[in-house]
Amino acid sequence: MEKESNSKIESAALPKIKGFIETSFVDWRGKIASVIFLPNCNFRCPYCHNPDMVLCPETMETLEISDIMNRLDRFKGWVDGVCITGGEPTLHTGLPALIRYIKQSGAFLVKIDTNGTNPDMLGRLISGKFLDAVSMDVKAPLDDIRYYKAAGVNVDLEKIKKSIDILKNSGLDVEFRTTVHPRLFREKDIIDLAEQLSGASRLKLQNFNRHAPTIDDSYQGSEPFNEEEFARLQALADRIIHGK
Ligand code: SF4
Repeated sequence: MEKESNSKIESAALPKIKGFIETSFVDWRGKIASVIFLPNCNFRCPYCHNPDMVLCPETMETLEISDIMNRLDRFKGWVDGVCITGGEPTLHTGLPALIRYIKQSGAFLVKIDTNGTNPDMLGRLISGKFLDAVSMDVKAPLDDIRYYKAAGVNVDLEKIKKSIDILKNSGLDVEFRTTVHPRLFREKDIIDLAEQLSGASRLKLQNFNRHAPTIDDSYQGSEPFNEEEFARLQALADRIIHGK
């Protein structure tokens, strides 16, 4: 990491940690990861499966970073890296300090998950070489109405576009992800989004999980895309992203 960048962005205290998973095979493509959850989010995606983390994190237990590092210690050589997710990690000014704390051991790569609303933080983390990978959720095609429906709030799309550009040019292991629900996505929406992201290395669609809790109660238990339709939409996105 670059010293100058570090001194500028590491003055804040470590963020509160509200969740920890020791090993996950699904949070970092091709890697075994531990997962740290940070609270709060500036979006209200109706299908969000982490409502407490977003709406009332103060009701959740806060975990000590020292305890987490002790637990991580046992996984050196087995776990490849730590994925920091949320909520929205880039809301926390102490995020760089947390990454440095984790990287001090020299044993773990670090990935963050982000909704892309803080391109300044993202850019500084990348230029300071804090990150090994990023997953960015792109919620919808990049226009105000469709983004509002998927994110549940008005979104400054210029910031989203800036984050996409930063990531496309970062040279990092980057994955763009989109959760699809039949109420929010039709084929045309997938086409529009994939065209807007063309040149990216990957757009991974995630099907809605009807069994998990949601921020908008009307989504819980609602019907996701069936397997065949979901696979067709992912193949369509792949073709467009890779220009085939
Ligand atoms: S799904 Fe939406 S509301 Fe939930 S944490 Fe992610 S960005 Fe925030």
